[in-house]
Amino acid sequence: MNIQDNLNNIKSTLPEDVTLVAVSKTKPISDLMEAYNAGQRIFGENKIQEMVEKHEDMPKDIEWHMIGHVQRNKVKYMAEFVSLIHGVESFKLLKEINKQAKKHNRIINCLLQIKIAEEDSKFGMSATDAATLLQSDEFSDLKHIKITGVMGMATFTDDMKQVETEFKFLKHTFSELKNINTELNTISMGMSGDYKLAIECGSTMVRVGSSIFGSRNYK
Ligand SMILES: *Cc1c(COP(=O)(O)O)cnc(C)c1O
Repeated sequence: MNIQDNLNNIKSTLPEDVTLVAVSKTKPISDLMEAYNAGQRIFGENKIQEMVEKHEDMPKDIEWHMIGHVQRNKVKYMAEFVSLIHGVESFKLLKEINKQAKKHNRIINCLLQIKIAEEDSKFGMSATDAATLLQSDEFSDLKHIKITGVMGMATFTDDMKQVETEFKFLKHTFSELKNINTELNTISMGMSGDYKLAIECGSTMVRVGSSIFGSRNYK
């Protein structure tokens, strides 16, 4: 199977209102271009430097999503072009994104990363902290960011019951936050191994890497 076939197979199973982010981290430009030539325009990377380099070398009608953990001192490198930052988990980070977006006269869309997994290693804020943030005055002062939804990563496990519980929790959290901020419209959840389950649980955006590009080599 090649990248184009993989991509078309996955797209044929997605409901129309679910957005596919092709997660291309560690993959060479030639692989990304194969997906691009098959019509894919949204790519997700988890390292800012790598995303910056790929953005420079690739067509400019691509939407770049930062899906990884974001270090505040690196926001400036992507502020000019990034179209969605999935992993926002603190007000401090949001403030920095706002500051860098302002320099480019942009409004950067962000998702609040909610901790849904039991594993301590996973990042994210609690549902309560997210609600507090959305209601705070400090938040309403930030004119160069827009929170458009939530993102979550389930526990790395074969226990699909547990994954389902975590996805449902994220969907529930989204609904509660939407009561506070009606502009929210995105639930980013689901990866290669669990995106179908994620969609059943209400996902509107899936982040799929290895099922499109093959397994990754970390050197
Ligand atoms: C790598 C990554 C993915 C994609 O994982 P696959 O299992 O290869 O589909 C999705 N989301 C995040 C946050 C990732 O870092």
